[in-house]
Amino acid sequence: MEREKLEFDVLFVGGGPANLAGAIHLKKLSQQQGKDIEICLIEKAVSIGTHALSGAVLDPRALRELLPDFKEKGCPIEETDLRDGIFYLTPGGQFRLPYTPPYMHNEGCFIISLSKFCTWLGAAAEELGVNIFPGFAGVEALYDETGRRVVGVRTGDKGVNKDGKPKSNFEPGVDLLAKVTVFGEGPKGSLIREVGKKLGIFDGRMPQVFETAVKEVIEIPSSSPFLRSPYTVLHTFGYPLGLNTKGGGFLYRMKENRVSLGLVVGLDYEDPMLEPYQEFLKFKKHPLIAEIIAGGKVLQQGAKTLAAGGWYSMPQLAADGALFVGDSASMLNVQRLKGIHTGMKSGMLAAETILAAIVKGDVSLATLGEYRSKVDGSWIRKELYAARNFGQALSQKGIAKFFSLGAQFFTGGRGLIDPMKSHDDANTLKPGLFRSPTPVQDLDGQLYLDKLTGVYLSGTKHEEDQPCHLLIPDKELCVTRCWQQFRSPCSRFCPGQVYEIELEEGGRPRLKLNPSNCLHCKTCEIKDPFKNIIWTCPEGGGGPSYSIV
Ligand SMILES: Cc1cc2nc3c(=O)[nH]c(=O)nc-3n(C[C@H](O)[C@H](O)[C@H](O)COP(=O)(O)OP(=O)(O)OC[C@H]3O[C@@H](n4cnc5c(N)ncnc54)[C@H](O)[C@@H]3O)c2cc1C
Repeated sequence: MEREKLEFDVLFVGGGPANLAGAIHLKKLSQQQGKDIEICLIEKAVSIGTHALSGAVLDPRALRELLPDFKEKGCPIEETDLRDGIFYLTPGGQFRLPYTPPYMHNEGCFIISLSKFCTWLGAAAEELGVNIFPGFAGVEALYDETGRRVVGVRTGDKGVNKDGKPKSNFEPGVDLLAKVTVFGEGPKGSLIREVGKKLGIFDGRMPQVFETAVKEVIEIPSSSPFLRSPYTVLHTFGYPLGLNTKGGGFLYRMKENRVSLGLVVGLDYEDPMLEPYQEFLKFKKHPLIAEIIAGGKVLQQGAKTLAAGGWYSMPQLAADGALFVGDSASMLNVQRLKGIHTGMKSGMLAAETILAAIVKGDVSLATLGEYRSKVDGSWIRKELYAARNFGQALSQKGIAKFFSLGAQFFTGGRGLIDPMKSHDDANTLKPGLFRSPTPVQDLDGQLYLDKLTGVYLSGTKHEEDQPCHLLIPDKELCVTRCWQQFRSPCSRFCPGQVYEIELEEGGRPRLKLNPSNCLHCKTCEIKDPFKNIIWTCPEGGGGPSYSIV
């Protein structure tokens, strides 16, 4: 098939904060140096920001370096007065920690909506002359004749029916060619997965580990006690996950009597019957939270994973013709639950490396590899290195984690063992641990929602007549070994009810897929115990439509 080819100097794949900061910085630097650099940025969402979901407490360090006049330029900030409270929750009560560890202090940070923030960054990039193509998913990395140098990305075909045949509106994908391609696909990128296999960029690193989160923006009544509380930022641990499953809750104050509420669950959990969405509902029903949100209404819901492996999971950051930034490159600081500022900074350091390489006329690994030295010499390393064993310590059972965390606190992150090992999330479920889940009752469709109402409030839409973007190489395995050993955990860990198990006559399970509900969180590819789910990008423009989360 003849495909259109478009050539640029630099191609950014993914319109998250890391790549948007990279594109802006590159455009600004090149303009300052009188160089004309053609930049293209593609994003699979229908518009920039609509697939962006985060807590989100923003450490403005990178933003200040990128756009010192961000306030004058109308950066959308929800709250500047950040006062922290950390609570340990028991099933019916709570107590506040008298001490907040320094890394959990948020003074000087801002509460934002990541979707609004990315929309704003996208507009700033466009104003500077970056060519932004939303609604285009990168589906294949392109290489030169040696097969080792990345030369761009192919975007997905549009207008293909579910049998793979072209429809009347068929449009072939485009080959976007560039001297340098920057992969900023966020957690569990579908392109970086394949690039990684081909170029070995993850070899010898600790496995990347992930957390998954369900999050809502809720409008609360003006009578809510939270609006008069001494805190604007709450973090919780303990109930409902307990101390054996990594994770915790957050509640941040936003403008207009809104709060950002979410529960993060470490995907190295062992219980195959655990359902992160149900845990989120239990968290909402805890008295501390229930009292704050009583009488409120969910405005938007969404779900996403975050890459929490940190320093020891960081891949090789450059290849011939390519760089890797943000969550895709394990830049998130799990100790602070923050990856926006480190992601942005990584994009900016990538931009500086790219400009020097283009000026030199050498975009091979030898020159682009300078990016790693820049990361090592920056505050990213300082932050991530101090937190290098933090996530692994949290994964320990019971109170053992507190000994490790304490040791790390007094040794600058080294702790009792350095490096502490992490485990592939797909391998942690314990077979045969069956129990009947007790779903949270009294869902009212307003404040307490079932999964499908949540999907509706995420604005998720996909073209129905397209090939299924969730590839399951061995469907028989789903209804045999996976059912027998784990009772098909995909039907529980997916927050969008994409995977359903129906029992046929005789009790034989049948897997039903609803790919149109997919929230693009990618929990399924990460947690499937047989690695039998491969997430690929659906037709560009499909997916959630977040605007305030
Ligand atoms: C629940 C939750 C709470 C969080 N809280 C905080 C917080 O309070 N503070 C903080 O700093 N960080 C927080 N984070 C982490 C933060 O959101 C991430 O670290 C940050 O967004 C990473 O930026 P990124 O640009 O690397 O990736 P992303 O923000 O994930 O952006 C990647 C973009 O690439 C697009 N994309 C992916 N693949 C393709 C493709 N093949 N083709 C085209 N487009 C593609 C995606 O649609 C997406 O828009 C939180 C994360 C979650 C999930």
